[in-house]
Amino acid sequence: MAPNKFETTAILTSRVNDGILLHDVYLCPICQNILWKPVACKTCENSFCSKCITSWLSKGRGLCPFKCTYRERKCPSILLSLLSKLEVDCRYKSNGCSKIMYYELLEEHEDECQYQMKQCKGCEQSILLKDLVNHEDECGMVDVICYKCQTIYKQKEMKYHDQIKCLENAMERKMSDALKQQQKMFDERLRLLEENYKKKSQYERIESNYSNKNNNNSSIHSLEQNSTIQAKYATIRGSKRRNTVFNPNIFYN
Ligand SMILES: [Zn+2]
Ligand SMILES: [Zn+2]
Ligand SMILES: [Zn+2]
Ligand SMILES: [Zn+2]
Ligand SMILES: [Zn+2]
Repeated sequence: MAPNKFETTAILTSRVNDGILLHDVYLCPICQNILWKPVACKTCENSFCSKCITSWLSKGRGLCPFKCTYRERKCPSILLSLLSKLEVDCRYKSNGCSKIMYYELLEEHEDECQYQMKQCKGCEQSILLKDLVNHEDECGMVDVICYKCQTIYKQKEMKYHDQIKCLENAMERKMSDALKQQQKMFDERLRLLEENYKKKSQYERIESNYSNKNNNNSSIHSLEQNSTIQAKYATIRGSKRRNTVFNPNIFYN
């Protein structure tokens, strides 16, 4: 079975000088490796790697591996002091690192050990950290950017990027920048037009509502006017009728 990430980063007892003589007190009861960043159970006083006990408890077990209710406390300082004096091989020994150091300096060294594997950002091959800079300088798959024309291309295509190509790219870039700028201005104008159009039709709607209302009012007015006119007309007709009764000829007869 392939070891999981934690197992591969664990401090196997074989990495400790005189590891065979190691007392149990140095070992994590869960993973059986050298305690790493240990914490202890307040009840039974046993110490565990903090990763191991966290994963143990997360699997639904509320109890410590020694069957007591787990309550965490700091690892006893005497144990930390014992651990700090262990002499340990670098975890990258198999890659060629010959460094042996005190347990307490392990993390600092391994973080920057030149014998760890890192991925090339071009071809994605795993390369020893000490060789990575040289490799990436020459790896054809690494992206490079031309500072003149801002084109990004693979390092292996560098030879095709001569002065003419560079000039072409620079011109293309300028043209496409100008086009983009124009497009942006066009979009902005279109947006303004649409906005104006919306405002205008909104205004027209309000205006037509308003004049409809007025028209209704004026027809009410004309109705009123009609009845007044009819009334007036009726009076005049009345007086006319009276006029016909009144005969002015009587003065001349
Ligand atoms: Zn452990
Ligand atoms: Zn316990
Ligand atoms: Zn190393
Ligand atoms: Zn590469
Ligand atoms: Zn260029």
